[in-house]
Amino acid sequence: MAAQTDDARAIVTVDGLQALLQAIQARGYRAVGPTLQNQAIVYDDVESIDDLPRGWTDEQDGGCYRLTRRSDDALFGYAVGPQSWKKYLHPPKLRLWTAEHHGEDISVTPEASPGDRFAFIGVRACEIRAIEIQDRVLVGGLHVDPHYKALRERALIVAVNCAQAGGTCFCVSMQTGPRVKQGFDIALTELLDGGEHVFLLEAGSDEGHALLAQIPHRTASDDEIEAADGVVERTASSMGREMRSDDLNALLMGSLDHPRWDEVATRCLSCANCTLVCPTCFCTSVEDVSDLAGEQAERWRRWDSCFTMDFSYIHGGSVRAGAKSRYRQWMTHKLATWIDQFGSSGCVGCGRCITWCPVGIDITEEVRAIRGDDASAKEPR
Ligand code: SF4
Ligand code: SF4
Repeated sequence: MAAQTDDARAIVTVDGLQALLQAIQARGYRAVGPTLQNQAIVYDDVESIDDLPRGWTDEQDGGCYRLTRRSDDALFGYAVGPQSWKKYLHPPKLRLWTAEHHGEDISVTPEASPGDRFAFIGVRACEIRAIEIQDRVLVGGLHVDPHYKALRERALIVAVNCAQAGGTCFCVSMQTGPRVKQGFDIALTELLDGGEHVFLLEAGSDEGHALLAQIPHRTASDDEIEAADGVVERTASSMGREMRSDDLNALLMGSLDHPRWDEVATRCLSCANCTLVCPTCFCTSVEDVSDLAGEQAERWRRWDSCFTMDFSYIHGGSVRAGAKSRYRQWMTHKLATWIDQFGSSGCVGCGRCITWCPVGIDITEEVRAIRGDDASAKEPR
């Protein structure tokens, strides 16, 4: 296929996808996307499409994740892995400033804004929504995080419509997926049926249109557009989990003394995994470190979690001393008070907290139990 004029919806081949990646890199972006590492699909630098998890998929359930081989060569044939894009935009550890002694004087040098221009390859609809939620938290209020803002403003998003739902996904319940609707520069739908391995490509920004114009493509046919729509519809109808979400603020805030909080506390290990894998959790703590000579000191920010004892430690004691109050704080914030605070739910239905909870605590199951729908509380689907 020769490079043609720009189209609203175009078809590119696997080679065309490689050309897209090269065009992105040629514009100075650092391309990061899904890679196979340590028996999981994790986000890392990608040099070429050969770094993508071709032919692999994931199986997920409460406390369970494993990779298996697909019967085809899909490059994006999995749901979501343990990591989210927040590892780049809101990194786990960040130095905020450095202080140095100069005789009697002390100079404090704020950390420079990061210079990376990330291109995120393979962003799912729920993940775009998660980034938008972090936008609201980290740059949309009175106190702007300059590091996040600098990285976010320069980031390019190449989204992918999900072709299969994970066993713990419930984006349909949270109205965040599986179709990518906004917030992308380029959106791809991988098409493998029909004997050809191609991608339906949609440009969603000027940068996306400019990239499309640079790579070999052809106009998508009506059949190909219909096939791409069918991929997303099949995914939407096969969610691993579901959760009624229209009344969660009233339900949870009216159930603060529900016996289920005691029950879940007998299982919760307060390990904080759920908050670390969650793409919207944003809490951090700061730590000061100095050298032994007292000549230099640094302040570091690191991810923290409402599940740790220290997180709510004030005036000689921890406000939330047990797993019951910590789990209740996390879930009521995520699903209820987040709405009061930021105008939306803090959950996008990605399912990571279910998959990566070592004891398989399932936020959808906990909601069902509190709702009083005990008969279905144990049913995952
Ligand atoms: S609470 Fe769980 S399902 Fe919801 S966004 Fe966070 S990790 Fe995903
Ligand atoms: S709910 Fe699960 S992942 Fe979260 S703190 Fe408790 S045991 Fe850890």
